Amino acid sequence: MVRQQIEARGVSDPAVLEAMRKVPRHIFVSEALRDQAYGDFPLPIGEQQTISQPYIVAEMTQALQLSREDRVLEIGTGSGYQAAVLARIAYRVYTIERIRALYLQVRRLFDELRLFNVVTRYGDGSKGWEEESPFDAIIITAGTPKIPVVLVNQLSVGGRLVAPVGNPHSQDLIKLVKEKTGVRQSNLGGCRFVKLVGEHGWPEP
Ligand code: SAM
Repeated sequence: MVRQQIEARGVSDPAVLEAMRKVPRHIFVSEALRDQAYGDFPLPIGEQQTISQPYIVAEMTQALQLSREDRVLEIGTGSGYQAAVLARIAYRVYTIERIRALYLQVRRLFDELRLFNVVTRYGDGSKGWEEESPFDAIIITAGTPKIPVVLVNQLSVGGRLVAPVGNPHSQDLIKLVKEKTGVRQSNLGGCRFVKLVGEHGWPEP
């Protein structure tokens, strides 16, 4: 998976490649889908949600430019796979999920895996996690119509944010870097995510 799908497409950060090699993706999908866990595609995780394609996980993680001291906020815990990858690279990961069944399932899994540097929360992540801010990096793993300003406010100066921004059917992966004088933005290319649903995302279905 790492050699053919991730390195071959240009992800080169050694810490990201090592984390992708170490985190067993099959643990984060249902038993029925385990034989497909290392395929080059997203998979369903129940509740009409998905675990992202491995390459996208690697690309977004690399874009966050993480170091060992960094505190990262993830919005959209889903299966917990992206959070587990981040946890191998950063100091601490804060992750928020709005669907209770997924949140409870991931909490159990993280306990089993003894992933003690991941803090989980049930709620609307589009509002961020004010009490724990500022963060060195923020990753939104659901498609949003725009990057919520409230999240940019929770980023430290020098902090990076990556998010799929666009309409419900297609988005661009946007990276922001917060600087003293403003925000620098770049477009990493097209992608397709399920919707960020919440106060600063799409309305409840
Ligand atoms: N990062 C996940 C993983 O590694 O499996 C994949 C995330 S999945 C593509 C998107 C997730 O975002 C879903 O689990 C969905 O319920 C969640 N989500 C959508 N809107 C949210 C919100 N406002 N706050 C928190 N989670 C949200």
